Amino acid sequence: MSRTDHIQNGEWSDDFSYDYYRQLIDTLETRFDLRTLSAYPEYRSNSSRAAFVRHDVDVCLEEALELAYFEHELGVSTTYMVFPRSPLYDLEAQRDILLEIQALGHEIGLHCDLGIRTTRDRAERPASSEGGLGPAERATIEESRSRLEALGVGPVESLSFHRPAEQLLGGPPAISGMINAYSSELLSAYISDSGGRWREGPPIDSVRAVSDADSFQLLTHPVWWGHEHVQPIDRLDAVAEKFDVTNEGVYDELVAIYPSLATRLEHPQLS
Ligand SMILES: [Zn+2]
Repeated sequence: MSRTDHIQNGEWSDDFSYDYYRQLIDTLETRFDLRTLSAYPEYRSNSSRAAFVRHDVDVCLEEALELAYFEHELGVSTTYMVFPRSPLYDLEAQRDILLEIQALGHEIGLHCDLGIRTTRDRAERPASSEGGLGPAERATIEESRSRLEALGVGPVESLSFHRPAEQLLGGPPAISGMINAYSSELLSAYISDSGGRWREGPPIDSVRAVSDADSFQLLTHPVWWGHEHVQPIDRLDAVAEKFDVTNEGVYDELVAIYPSLATRLEHPQLS
């Protein structure tokens, strides 16, 4: 059940429909209490079994809002991590969407890109004691949090990293006073749909296979999900039409999310 089990085979991307998502949430709720990430300290003190459903909003806020409404219908509150420095959306211009997601009962957390990608980056940025973060990374986190809080979402209490470098995995429970979604405890039983696939196989099976975990974290990216199942590459390709892919930052970000999109963007006749 850990991140490193069952990686080699059985990747699964057969159903990103809301109907499947509802079944996934139902399955989680039979085993765990669903909590937002900021409730993590409270869960730890009362020793209940809790699942934390987190959404990293990497592509656009509209899809996050749609999922937020669907979850509201299901009666669950989850954590939406938004990315103030995203090249793909403008939080300041779309502040109303953020407040709408929050008004539906969900938590708004901070999604942060520290830009640490390579071994060389790591060598150039010496780790400090807390979570392998140096002064430059801490300043980036603080600046991003200030930008998000300036939009009126209240104090931001949870943090996840965008495309986290290895050194950020299994960090401390909190960073800069925020719950760290990549802490070792929150990764102990963890599955995600990163890259448009579940590496461990169907997520409902993964949840059913959990026997002794006290906590469970489920990460989804709203871009993959919709009322009908669509293959992730097709979904992202359709979304990419809204963007100016001649902008290098936009292109790089979309291709980093799903590398084979590059072929589609360069040869649109293949789509
Ligand atoms: Zn991300």
